[in-house]
Amino acid sequence: MTPPLGSATRDRLRIAIQKSGRLAEPARALLASCGLSWRESRDKLFCYGESLPVDLLLVRDDDIPGLIADGVCDLGIVGRNELDEQAGARARIGLAPAYRALRGLGFGQCRLMLAVPDEWEWTGPEQLQGTRIATSYPAILTEWLEARGIAAQVVELSGSVEIAPRLGTADLICDLVSSGATLRANQLKPVETLLESEAVLAGPAGSFDDARADLAQMLLRRMDGVLQVRERKLLMFNAEREALPALERLLADAGPLVQLPSSNGVLTLQTMCGEGTVSWQRLEELERAGARQLMVLGVERSLA
Ligand code: ATP
Ligand code: ZN
Repeated sequence: MTPPLGSATRDRLRIAIQKSGRLAEPARALLASCGLSWRESRDKLFCYGESLPVDLLLVRDDDIPGLIADGVCDLGIVGRNELDEQAGARARIGLAPAYRALRGLGFGQCRLMLAVPDEWEWTGPEQLQGTRIATSYPAILTEWLEARGIAAQVVELSGSVEIAPRLGTADLICDLVSSGATLRANQLKPVETLLESEAVLAGPAGSFDDARADLAQMLLRRMDGVLQVRERKLLMFNAEREALPALERLLADAGPLVQLPSSNGVLTLQTMCGEGTVSWQRLEELERAGARQLMVLGVERSLA
């Protein structure tokens, strides 16, 4: 059964994530790698936490900042673009900040950019004087324009922003861009970046004063343990002592080379490193320099 929403004190933590869309799967995967599991199937609105008292609310990404502001949810995984826009909109009507980004999560990367019709020759922001700009991010755009003293008309659209110039409802657009393919398909070119965005873990501006404080702290610690080792590898191999200087030179871009205890005179070594250090080519070079039984392991989690 779904507990009542918006109650003031709770002993369970509630996290809002996108129900479906770009951030839905990576958000679930990240939380699962922090040791969370849930009882409900993914098409339900509410997922009851089984392994820990941490429940999920599956919603539209636009609703996540508001759910945190209202105390319905304690944490949320949402694009920085959405969080900044809604924070900006609150600020413009004199409301205090209600949430903050606690961690960048390394997925959902995109940029909020100005894009103009291909035939424009872009000379700089002063060119925007007197133009009409279509966007779903009016607060961020307005602030950006004001900071540069540009008087332009912000045309707020909730979707299909990229066709506005062709429809004649705006001269240019301000929209999210990742690969740029959508812009190209609409004969637009990106010219200015307003915001570099990625998915963030968002939480309330204040802190929790009940059991949720400990839960949130534990989750953050686990999340750091996952994020820090993402893309990290553990390289292990054996080598004779004489080969050590050459191997160390080849592993200059890795972490410290750690020697494990061994009995037969052959050294067993290990080091933490990035993807580039353990390419096939590098492993072959290490082998030529005397490394044996090379093994590369993915790192799933760590506690510092
Ligand atoms: P919802 O139904 O939840 O409202 P949506 O259509 O608003 O979904 P998505 O398109 O799934 O949302 O995008 C969610 C987030 O993914 C964006 O707010 C942004 O942070 C990020 N993102 C990454 N790349 C892009 C992109 N090319 N276009 C739009 N959003 C992107
Ligand atoms: Zn949305």
